[in-house]
Amino acid sequence: MSDGKLAFVLGIRPDVIRAALILEKLREYSDMETVFIWSGQHYSDNLKSIFFRELNVAPAEIDLGCRGESDAEIVAALISRLYPVLEGLRPAASVFLGDTNTTTGAISSALLNIPIVHIEGCMRSYDWRMPEEKYRTTIDHLSDVIYAYFQEYKDQGVREGLNPDNIVVVGNPIVDILNRYYFAQREKYSEMASEEFFAQRGIRKGEYYLMTCHRRENVHNQESLESILQLASKADAPVYFPASYRTQKVMRDFIIQLPENLLVVDPIGYEEFLCLLVNSRGVLTDSGTVVEEACVLGVPSVQMRRSTERPQVYDAGASVKFDPSDPHNFPPDLVMRKLQSLFGKRWEHNLGDGKTSERIATDLHRRFVENDFNRHKPTDYRITIARSYRGDGLIV
Ligand code: UDP
Repeated sequence: MSDGKLAFVLGIRPDVIRAALILEKLREYSDMETVFIWSGQHYSDNLKSIFFRELNVAPAEIDLGCRGESDAEIVAALISRLYPVLEGLRPAASVFLGDTNTTTGAISSALLNIPIVHIEGCMRSYDWRMPEEKYRTTIDHLSDVIYAYFQEYKDQGVREGLNPDNIVVVGNPIVDILNRYYFAQREKYSEMASEEFFAQRGIRKGEYYLMTCHRRENVHNQESLESILQLASKADAPVYFPASYRTQKVMRDFIIQLPENLLVVDPIGYEEFLCLLVNSRGVLTDSGTVVEEACVLGVPSVQMRRSTERPQVYDAGASVKFDPSDPHNFPPDLVMRKLQSLFGKRWEHNLGDGKTSERIATDLHRRFVENDFNRHKPTDYRITIARSYRGDGLIV
């Protein structure tokens, strides 16, 4: 029996960005207490707190402080620390987002039979090298309710045997976020983009590229990382690179010679990042969220991924593919030229109508009020039940 609570579990930078408006709306309901739990996966100011401040997200009620040298340590801490918290809270449901180590906390919920909700469900890259692919497949199959961004994602889930009745198509919340935190504040960004702002960073407005790179399959493979750096070296302007700490460490460990036009800095806050993104020539990235943001903001991108769970940016004509593990078929200079062919082009983005966060929050609240978090059975359930319930026919 629930005590009138909803647990909302997040743990990394893009989680705060994507969930900011969902959380805001959920916290407005007076008949439902949302308990925001931070896993602790990201903890420094430039990866966590600055995003809370810039996106007006009130701090988490609970911080699990899960850290570790390896993914295994973080995941182990998460499962063991979240379990007693959920056991004490007994929420009506626990909500997770995305495909990170933090989503493995769903195993604690599963052990306690607390309904699981997955936001950003049924995305698939079909690239089994990616831990994220394994995480999202696992949590989708543990989930009772799934919010999928698009019908094509729902179809992917249904093809895996998930019941369509558990999957709600809602659109992509990044559009809502950019509407609120960029488009509604354009003047602020124009003021920010002074000559001095760029000079302080060693670049000039409109005469640089932005780059991010953090995916394990790119960073932990020396050849892939080298081909990414080769791509950057082919840029006809400086490449400003706020590099994740993992990437910085690996570049040091591999003792890689960095291209002369590459400016490596620590990760930066959201406003600074958006300002750099909209004033760049284009962005080179393996980030899921950044390609979407670039698509919405009209900035051409190179998606540095063998495969992506976000092909819509290609449909829109906003992005060029670069497979770092196959530079032979994706020659860096050709990829740069393709990126340049997108300069000045406009496209319609197809990611959402700006109402996704509200849609998710409203649906969560309705389910809470109507106690409607229980999952419908898998599509082939009736066949399964016929066999699994077969016995000697005696009912007592
Ligand atoms: N971002 C940021 N500062 C940075 C790099 C990225 O604010 O130095 C933002 C970016 O705008 C996007 C999100 O962080 O919203 C992307 O995070 P990341 O690439 O780590 O995660 P992914 O989207 O791949 O899960």
